[in-house]
Amino acid sequence: MGATEKEKLIMTVQGAIPASSLGFCHSHEHLFLADGQSAKVHAALRLDDFDHTVEELELFKSIGGRSIVDAQPVGAGRIAGYLAEASIKTGINIIASTGFHKLIFYPQDHWIHTVDEDVLTQLYINELNLGMYTNADFEFPSRKLAFKPGIIKTASDMNGVDAQYKRLFSAAARASVDTGTPILSHTEMGKGALGQIKVFTDYGVPAESIIICHLDRTVEDIGYHLEVAQTGVYLEFDTIGRFKYHSDEAEAEFIVKMVEHGFEDKILIGLDTTRERMKSYGGSLGLDYIKTAFIPLLKEYGLKDETIQKFVIDNPARAFTKYK
Ligand SMILES: [Zn+2]
Repeated sequence: MGATEKEKLIMTVQGAIPASSLGFCHSHEHLFLADGQSAKVHAALRLDDFDHTVEELELFKSIGGRSIVDAQPVGAGRIAGYLAEASIKTGINIIASTGFHKLIFYPQDHWIHTVDEDVLTQLYINELNLGMYTNADFEFPSRKLAFKPGIIKTASDMNGVDAQYKRLFSAAARASVDTGTPILSHTEMGKGALGQIKVFTDYGVPAESIIICHLDRTVEDIGYHLEVAQTGVYLEFDTIGRFKYHSDEAEAEFIVKMVEHGFEDKILIGLDTTRERMKSYGGSLGLDYIKTAFIPLLKEYGLKDETIQKFVIDNPARAFTKYK
C-alpha cells in the first residue's frame, strides 16, 4: 500500500479493522434483542440470553465464520454491551448498528416519534464517533459506551419513504455523509428500494455504500431486481432458510440469475436470524446453515467457489468499509 493510499477500514464493536481481515461474514443477523416492543410485535424477535447467543457464535466460529453484521439499531432493543462482550468472548467481529427500524417496533410514546431531524442526526453522529448509548430502548440516550457501531440501519414500510419516515431517512443520510458510514436499509418485502436509494444519493451517500436488505423476500420479478441493481447499491439476500417466503431452491435459482446478469460483485447474504431459528435458543437452523447447507446448494446450482466467496468475503469487505 502506498503512503498516499488510505487503508480501508471497517468499524467493529472492538474498533476499526482492515477490510481485508473481515473474513467469512453474514451481512444481516440479529444477535441480541431486549424484551420490549419488538417482542410484543413478534415474540420470536426476543434474543436476550447472553450465553445462548455466545454458544451460537461459537458454532459460527467452528465452521469458519469470522464476522457478523447485527442489524438492531439504537432505541429499538439493541443491547450494546452484550454485542461488545460477546465479540470479546468469542473473537467474532461484530458490526453494530445505529439508526432506526420500522416504526411498529417502537412504543407510541417513544422519543423516535417526536425528536427533530437535527437532534436525530447528531444522535447518530455521536454514536458513530463516540460509542453506542446503553439506555436507549426508551429513554432518550444519555449514557454511552466506547464501543462504536459500524453501520447506519434504516427501514421503511410498504409505502417506502413516506411522510412519517422522511425525517428519519434524512437524519440517517446526513449522519452517513458526515462520518462516511455505510447504510444498511430494510425494505418491506423488498419494496420501495428505489425511493430509499434516491433519498440517500440525493444527500451524497455513494451508491456503493448503500446495502438494501430483504430484496429476496420475493424473487419472481427479475426486472425490479435488475433496476435496483443498476443503481450500484449492494443487494442483500437474507431470506435464506425462510420457508414461509420461498424455498432455498427458488433462492438459489434467483441468485444464479443475478450472477448471470453480471451482479456477482454486489451480492451479500445473511439469515436475518430470530429466536425461532437459532439452534442455541432451541431453533431449527443455526448460524452454521449458510456454510453447511446453502453454499453446497449454490454449488449444485453451478456457482463456482470463487463466486460464492464474493458473497461472504469479498463483497462484505467492500460494502461495510467506511467511505471517509
Ligand atoms: Zn433484520
